[in-house]
Amino acid sequence: MTSLPTTGAAIVMPAEGGPLRLVQRPVDTPAAGEALVRIEACGVCGSDAFLQDGGFGPGSLPRVPGHEAAGVVIAVGDAQDAEWIGRQVALYYIEGPAESAWAEAGHENIGPGIQRMGVDVDGAFAQYVVRRITTLIPVEPRMDPASVAVATDALATPYHALTAIAGLASGETLAIIGLGGIGSNAVQIGRHLGAKVVAVGRGEAKLAQARELGAAITLHSSDGPEAIVAAAGGQIDVVLQCVGENTAMDRLAIDIAGYRARVVFIAVSQDDFPVRSTELVWRELSLKGSRGFTREDIREVLALVASGDLTTDHLTRNRRPLREAAEAIADLRAGTVLRTVLTMDDLREGDGQ
Ligand SMILES: [Zn+2]
Repeated sequence: MTSLPTTGAAIVMPAEGGPLRLVQRPVDTPAAGEALVRIEACGVCGSDAFLQDGGFGPGSLPRVPGHEAAGVVIAVGDAQDAEWIGRQVALYYIEGPAESAWAEAGHENIGPGIQRMGVDVDGAFAQYVVRRITTLIPVEPRMDPASVAVATDALATPYHALTAIAGLASGETLAIIGLGGIGSNAVQIGRHLGAKVVAVGRGEAKLAQARELGAAITLHSSDGPEAIVAAAGGQIDVVLQCVGENTAMDRLAIDIAGYRARVVFIAVSQDDFPVRSTELVWRELSLKGSRGFTREDIREVLALVASGDLTTDHLTRNRRPLREAAEAIADLRAGTVLRTVLTMDDLREGDGQ
């Protein structure tokens, strides 16, 4: 057996708004039931910027961010798990308490006591992480690590929202508000599920990309609710609200929802917005929230990427080495990229010393 690393590079977010630091840290030894994973790729998404802004509350920093990751198991804590060594894996970012009724019921993404990698515990902006083996999803045959990484969040999050939460059916009309990392993928997933997809966003590049990913109709959010409903053919069955911190878009989601529509909020805002009970009753609207995804969602989207039904090309073309995590977050804030994937394979000797 080759000797295991004793230290590894990691990116630390030291304090709210503070600059990121590349450090060398000791590598943990996996306990029974755990695996040491050498990270190959980790996506950078809006939640990482949210974490840096203090959005997850006081006490969430310092932290190593990174919750959408792929890697290879290089050691396990228990000999009976030795079959895992050498396997490519997708990392599920949530670890729940050992006995959670919500997890047992198939809702492992919610419930008391869940710990999110990269938020509540240190994440995968790092060369190595130790994770409970039950949170690892084997990838066979091997795929591009960058594709696996983004599938675990950018694809799995809208997949969960459209399947488990919205119950989107073939032939329904789906409107998606916001065409960033989540919304653009909701477009291709909605199309794959057989819906007519109406994509509502800002900026010609994002609208053009939504058409490429399968949107039948694209509109600007400034076109207003009447124009959006008319363009959709008069009835929108599912609305997915993917724009964070924007109550005008929260409200737009309700304004465009048709009879018996499910309005699903996937982005979050700290502010209130008005809703009248009459509009819920008269249209039989359901307002729903969708939080993250389950391991099964990851398995399903990985299969759809492997079969060519979903693409990750638009998410994986921007790649940076781990040490450029700050630049990757800056690109995201500037809106110049949907995603950057950090790769760990080109760390220089002495990085983070
Ligand atoms: Zn994310």
